[in-house]
Amino acid sequence: LAMTEDILQLFSELPERIRKLLRAAQQAGDELGYSVFVVGGFVRDLLLKVPTQDLDLVIEGDGHAFARVLAQRFPEGQLILHEQFGTARLEFPDGSHLDVARSRREDYASPGALPQVEESRLRDDMFRRDFTINAMAIAINSTRSGELVDYYGGLRDLKQGEIRFLHNLSFIEDPTRILRAIRFAGRYGFRLAKETRDGVDTALSTGVLRKLSNERFTEELMHMLRELRFGVMGESLLQMGVLKEWFESELAWDFTHPVLNKEVPPKRKWLICLRKMDLSQFERVQEKLRLSKELRGLTQKFFEVMTGLSVLRSSDKISLEDLDHYLEGLPKVILEVLMLDERFHDSLKRYHEATEGIKQKVDGMTLLQWGIKEGPEIGRILKSIRSAWLEGEIHSEEDEQKFVAEILKNNPTKST
Ligand code: ATP
Repeated sequence: LAMTEDILQLFSELPERIRKLLRAAQQAGDELGYSVFVVGGFVRDLLLKVPTQDLDLVIEGDGHAFARVLAQRFPEGQLILHEQFGTARLEFPDGSHLDVARSRREDYASPGALPQVEESRLRDDMFRRDFTINAMAIAINSTRSGELVDYYGGLRDLKQGEIRFLHNLSFIEDPTRILRAIRFAGRYGFRLAKETRDGVDTALSTGVLRKLSNERFTEELMHMLRELRFGVMGESLLQMGVLKEWFESELAWDFTHPVLNKEVPPKRKWLICLRKMDLSQFERVQEKLRLSKELRGLTQKFFEVMTGLSVLRSSDKISLEDLDHYLEGLPKVILEVLMLDERFHDSLKRYHEATEGIKQKVDGMTLLQWGIKEGPEIGRILKSIRSAWLEGEIHSEEDEQKFVAEILKNNPTKST
């Protein structure tokens, strides 16, 4: 693989949308006389034959000029120019995007620079990246289309299934790469190369990871959470001591549940891996991470419910009303995760069976319409209706109507 013809073959198998983008980039590069390369994750995934969405281009020339020419051919795309970095992004309605960066600084911009000079700049650009498999480029100008530029052995590592950093200071320079390494390894079923693994140990022992902001760490963790094989990644995080180092404490993470490597919503995976923790551990997680509002809320609620149910369990008989107190209106994802726990299984099943048939029609609005005064009485009545459903005193809408009529008959607060 990776002879130029093989790469051209891989190009030809890409979805038409991507091929069109590549053709346009080629034409724009040819017209402007710029060298154009597709780089990074796109190259990696092309060679691995896994579908890719986003395109990363590095060009030798004026990035904005190039991006403008390109944007003219894609009126549906929105062009965003970053003045400060000279980079550009074309965003498409389907959420995909194309990034343009240049591999030389403006002050070097001499038209027709020597090819060797150009190449050494591309080499520098690749060297600033994280891993060999992410530091490959493919030329796309018509004169050298499909030519692989692989200075650091990325292709070899793809074949060997190894994640390898580009130099020993890589993790010290940017500790997020530790998490990225584990993520890519988990995603592709790769391992970390020996010296890269040692590099993680060294970096952890120097304490650089703790310098990472809560936002950055959280962001990387959330990237993992969205991956199919989150469980595998989590296990690596544990084994390599990353979580212990970051949270400065040994928390009861559990990444062993098989669902963590299946296609289920990230929030479900999240609760699953937390479910063995106690209160102080939950608090530590909440304190160290900058979770989204939704995830933070779910985490909080999940913990409250788990605690509540555990306390209930220690009492003799759990009433349906007690269960209802914790479980009514609970987000489905929390119920699903609670169901995985042996301890709660019976109670949840009983509760589910009791609530399944509940078709409560009467609500606060109805009671108001029926002349009950606004106030605490409404809440009390609603509660007694729900309780009657739970205890099996009401089985149908008619039962409910009768039940309410009975209450209204005796209700002193009823207005006329
Ligand atoms: P994904 O499939 O997860 O999107 P990707 O490789 O496209 O993978 P990005 O985070 O979009 O990931 O990064 C694009 C490229 O930028 C990478 O391929 C890599 O070359 C480089 N890169 C990203 N993050 C870093 C980093 N922290 N240090 C060095 N290079 C990085």
